[in-house]
Amino acid sequence: MKLKHLLIVVFVILAAIPLFIGLQFLNQYTGEHHRKLFEEHISSLSLVAKQRIVSVVDRIKDNTALISSRTQMRISLAKWNETGAEEHRSKLTKIINDAKFGLSHLKDIQVFNLRGQLVTTTPTHQVIPSLDLAKLNQNNISLEMENDTLVIVNVSPLSLNHEIIGYLKVAFFANVITNLVRDRNGLRQTGEWLIAVRDEVGDALFVVPLKYDHKAAFKRKIDRNRLDIPIIQALLGNEIVMSYAPDYTGTPVLASTRYIKEQDWGIVAKINEEEVNQMVHENAFFIYVAELVIILLSVFVGVVLSVYISSPIERLKKHIDVVAKGSFEHPPFTGGWHEVKELTTHFSYMIQALKDLNENLQTKVDLRTKELVDANKKLEQLIVRDPLTHLYNCRYLQERLIEEIQRAQRYNTPLACILIDIDNFKSINKAWGHEVGDDVLIRLANLLKEAVRETDTLARLAGQRFCIVLSVCSEESARNFLERLRTDISELEFVSANQSFHITCSIGLALMSDTAKDAESMISAAEKALYYAKDAGRNRVVSYSDLSTSSNK
Ligand code: GH3
Ligand code: MG
Repeated sequence: MKLKHLLIVVFVILAAIPLFIGLQFLNQYTGEHHRKLFEEHISSLSLVAKQRIVSVVDRIKDNTALISSRTQMRISLAKWNETGAEEHRSKLTKIINDAKFGLSHLKDIQVFNLRGQLVTTTPTHQVIPSLDLAKLNQNNISLEMENDTLVIVNVSPLSLNHEIIGYLKVAFFANVITNLVRDRNGLRQTGEWLIAVRDEVGDALFVVPLKYDHKAAFKRKIDRNRLDIPIIQALLGNEIVMSYAPDYTGTPVLASTRYIKEQDWGIVAKINEEEVNQMVHENAFFIYVAELVIILLSVFVGVVLSVYISSPIERLKKHIDVVAKGSFEHPPFTGGWHEVKELTTHFSYMIQALKDLNENLQTKVDLRTKELVDANKKLEQLIVRDPLTHLYNCRYLQERLIEEIQRAQRYNTPLACILIDIDNFKSINKAWGHEVGDDVLIRLANLLKEAVRETDTLARLAGQRFCIVLSVCSEESARNFLERLRTDISELEFVSANQSFHITCSIGLALMSDTAKDAESMISAAEKALYYAKDAGRNRVVSYSDLSTSSNK
């Protein structure tokens, strides 16, 4: 497998699978969301239906009260009760017929006497049964089926002078309920409305024809103990949304239950769960299409990215192949893992080459550093050394003398400062030449170098004058050392133009204990001793202490 293909697979796995899982969650969420929306929809439908029925019932009550309030009607009934004269009944009939024309949806009006027997009625073709007075106090509004027509009946007592004189029964067409049940607006294909009242034993009695049982009105009942059935929950006063609840046929439904307390009626709006799920899944289809498009897009992006990433690596590999030509005799592999292995080898070579380069650079840097250190050392020597004799120069000597004075003071040790000056050096230069003079200076410097200890400081001050600082050295030891040195100098033999000659030196010695404790004072004291030696005839050692004893300072 090529690197490119490997990357494509990786990208697809990394991008498409989490995307797919994410979209599945989205599917589930939108499914649940859509179902919830539908539950809210059916719940608000049932609430509106309940409110409409309640307002119709209220209107019926108002209208009935309006008819009952007709005084002439009540007087005629009272007279009929008293006399039984036909004229009073005719008047009564006329009055209720007048009342009927003024009201919409009114079916008929009947007037009963105190015993519940019919007195008169608006024209009707059916036999009017007597009023069941026992039921009157419980609920004066009821639903009845008259000639396959659902009516809402309101029975109210008629009174005159605070005495009940009979009963008025007004029947209204229940158009709101009939239309609601027939039209099933908002309840899709399988939905329907159920309206039930409680029968004498408490079971739910449907009062409207049912979609799957047209003759159910006032016949079909549901046992009051079937709490899983929505209409029972409605009659229990529970206004809820029930999922997968069995309806009167046992089909699982989504149902919203409502209860009208005043009339003790139950209302249910319901729709088969199968249809609800179908609706929810209709939306899922669009999401699946969107998912497919997104996955295809992610695969496309994955392929583009893979090609984008793999091409420079492929180019680099080719380039390395060209550079390392000869090192790789085998033909390039085409397999993915081999390819990666080969690439790794190339990289190893590159890393080795970089390492070598780095090491070379390090060597060069080391060399350059050493050169710099040497140059610095040389510079340092130039600064502190005299170029002719390579002894320390005057500046360096002064610095050292200051340090030595401090140390001698700190440890309370003796310190001596000595000046050595060649006698009549001008004449040597004059007699043998300046170059010979230089040789004299060099050989004298070498002799002095060998004579002093490592801890002592030897310097050429200027011209042919030398200075030695002897640390931890008493006057006696210094005198002995200088006498020996003076003798050694005088024994040095120089040869020029086949003639030998010797030199002598005058030496001035000053001890720290005899002077002020600073470099200038010590050098000045040694200088005074030196001049004294010159004056005294040269080729001798004179100590500054000698001068003080001779009061010649
Ligand atoms: P004195 O005994 O009093 O010291 O007499 P001198 O001739 O040695 O006089 P002085 O000490 O003043 O010496 C100065 C002379 O030293 C002058 C110069 O010719 C000589 N001189 C100074 N520096 C050098 C040098 O580097 N090379 C040579 N050849 N001669 C030098
Ligand atoms: Mg001299």
